[in-house]
Amino acid sequence: MITGIKENLLKIKQSLSESVTLVAVSKTKPITDIQEAYDAGQRIFGENKIQEMVTKFDALPKDIEWHMIGHLQRNKVKYMAHFVDLIHGVDSFKTLKEIDKQAKKHNRVINCLLQARIAKEDTKFGLPFSEIEQILTSEEFSALKNINVVGLMGMATFTDNQQQLQDEFLSLKTFFEELNTQHLELKTLSMGMSGDYKLAIENGSTMVRIGSSIFGSRNYIT
Ligand SMILES: *Cc1c(COP(=O)(O)O)cnc(C)c1O
Repeated sequence: MITGIKENLLKIKQSLSESVTLVAVSKTKPITDIQEAYDAGQRIFGENKIQEMVTKFDALPKDIEWHMIGHLQRNKVKYMAHFVDLIHGVDSFKTLKEIDKQAKKHNRVINCLLQARIAKEDTKFGLPFSEIEQILTSEEFSALKNINVVGLMGMATFTDNQQQLQDEFLSLKTFFEELNTQHLELKTLSMGMSGDYKLAIENGSTMVRIGSSIFGSRNYIT
């Protein structure tokens, strides 16, 4: 079967500078598709459902870095705590505490990104900037030894309006830099998907999450 996954992947990789990390978003896609991307050199994959990610982790080579990019259900964090490399969508202090607790059981430190609310559209996901700042500067936060907040993640509004997308990306980039002027050392800014990653990179993204442009469109909504 001709899938074009390898070609798509290499084309995207070529267009990215070395300072931008590519997360290949493989949600809903079969193991064989992931293996194909792996064989073409890709090692970082993103999933949005914990159970699906666990199944794929079990089946695939162990040098893959697995990123959880979806909305988190706190009671399921325990199922991925032994292997997940980066959790993008942390949007509450409670969740951060749960990740810390589960990481501790495995004697690990789990890297996390706090998800910021940048879309103007009505969305329930992501934290306001003010709450992110509150969390990162709290004493309770500094007591968590088994998590490492390495940056921020944001999802822009689903729109073709380039100006609006740019405004949303830039607002997060500016906030990210502000945090780094206060004794924080955030290095990862995860923003940009198939439709908007070029604009996201122009506006400061260091990590893009690309699914359909690599694996083709998904058969069902997730
Ligand atoms: C599905 C998903 C992506 C990838 O979307 P594409 O448009 O297929 O590139 C990126 N980020 C998150 C959080 C997603 O859920």
